Amino acid sequence: MNDLKSVDTLVIGSGPGGYVAALRSAQLGMTTAVVERGRIGGVCTNIGCIPSKALIGEAHRFKQRKQWNHTVAAAASFEDAQGFKQAVVNKQAGGVQYLLKTAGVSVLEGEARLIDEHTASIQQAGAELRISFKHAILATGSRPIELAALPYGGRIMSSTEALSLSQIPSSLVVIGGGYIGVELGQMYAKFGTKVTILEGGGQVLPGFEADLVAPVVRQLNEDGVTIITDAIAVHAEQDAGGLTLRYVCQDEQRTVRAEYALVTVGRRPNTDGGLGLENVGLQTTGRGLIETDAQCRTAVPHIFAIGDITEGPALAHKASYEAKVAAEAIAGKPSIVDYRAIPLVVFSEPELASVGLTETACKEQGIPVIVGKSSFSINGRALALKEEPGFVKIIADQASGIVKGAQIVGIEASTLISELALAIEMGATVEDLAMTIHPHPTLGEVIMEAAENAVRKMRIAK
Ligand code: FAD
Repeated sequence: MNDLKSVDTLVIGSGPGGYVAALRSAQLGMTTAVVERGRIGGVCTNIGCIPSKALIGEAHRFKQRKQWNHTVAAAASFEDAQGFKQAVVNKQAGGVQYLLKTAGVSVLEGEARLIDEHTASIQQAGAELRISFKHAILATGSRPIELAALPYGGRIMSSTEALSLSQIPSSLVVIGGGYIGVELGQMYAKFGTKVTILEGGGQVLPGFEADLVAPVVRQLNEDGVTIITDAIAVHAEQDAGGLTLRYVCQDEQRTVRAEYALVTVGRRPNTDGGLGLENVGLQTTGRGLIETDAQCRTAVPHIFAIGDITEGPALAHKASYEAKVAAEAIAGKPSIVDYRAIPLVVFSEPELASVGLTETACKEQGIPVIVGKSSFSINGRALALKEEPGFVKIIADQASGIVKGAQIVGIEASTLISELALAIEMGATVEDLAMTIHPHPTLGEVIMEAAENAVRKMRIAK
């Protein structure tokens, strides 16, 4: 056993929750260590956000090149794309390592287990290290849910394997039409894979309103993706050439044949296994999540939990946001979380983004609202970019005009949504957005026009 080491803050997990928490803790003057059993940067950097967006970008560029030059070879382009993806991942992971080092954070490799309320053991290759801590931040993230009927292995992949195929599959059946399934399905379709998405609910991208999803579905169909809704996968038979997947749809048993299956039905928090929550008296909810207060503090006051292991959307920026709050709370600052303005983005073509409340949610909550809308099809910059599909929708309180929520489907929705997140964060009104001078010609003018539309409707309603 190695020497006992002691720190002010021990962070377990180095994803966008853990590494940001460690950085903030060190910036605030606390001795800090972060433990990682896998790769620095966590899921997001290594097998999530970053590699998926690198491949999606490459697929988009391949599709454009193919339109100009039909002889561009898909196989070679995909090989290049995988090389590019890995270079991006390595650069990003290197950046995280550099930041931790320069901030003075000790990075410990190994699997951490809580032994008691102030001690963790770290299992390293052939050795055990014990570390004592004043505070701990748990940021152990999540892993793909495995379906009992479709266990991972062979031709049945999780998102992790789907991001690392060395060749383009001729066909792919995606089980689960959430954002990961849609993003990866469309990426492969652009490289020429025949993609079928089986979604258990009534539409892909459940949780987004139907009018926002429609332009994405249109483009998926144009890219050759077959979408089958209300379809539940029940069994897969693997053979040398691929698999035959059996599913139930409209009370009928049907089959689809594909070279690979990709299962994207959600993620499970890493709170089970060897983390040792029971040794500190921490329990999890039925879904395996750890309950926390507004400062991300668990039922054990000096132990905090952030990111995918806590309630709320499993997103990198939510994890990083909570990371800062937890580290600041440990430093005695009055920081608390405010979840009203967490953007949700789907990196499909066209992109889809939402922040705050939807029109449907406002109706359900009995909040009288005005909805302002404007389309990319009347925006000069979108026309010049040949990117016309989509629109911006802003939901404002009918009486005050305060922005309650916004949704965008269209080009650069992922970037544009930040202006609307800021509006919600600052309590801005649609008039503030409408009066803000947006440069011309830019995509941002669609936001201004949607706000103007809402202001006009408010005046009529008065
Ligand atoms: P993670 O990133 O999961 O990191 C947890 C780390 O803890 C892991 O590295 C793990 O090895 C380590 N760990 C676990 N247990 C222990 C232990 N006992 N000891 C030591 N180390 C341990 N989110 C977005 O916001 N935008 C996107 O575009 C996006 N795209 C995605 C695409 C895909 C394909 C996937 C799978 C996910 C995507 N996500 C995206 C989700 C995002 O990756 C997660 O929400 C985010 O990584 C969660 O961060 P985290 O810090 O909670 O945990």
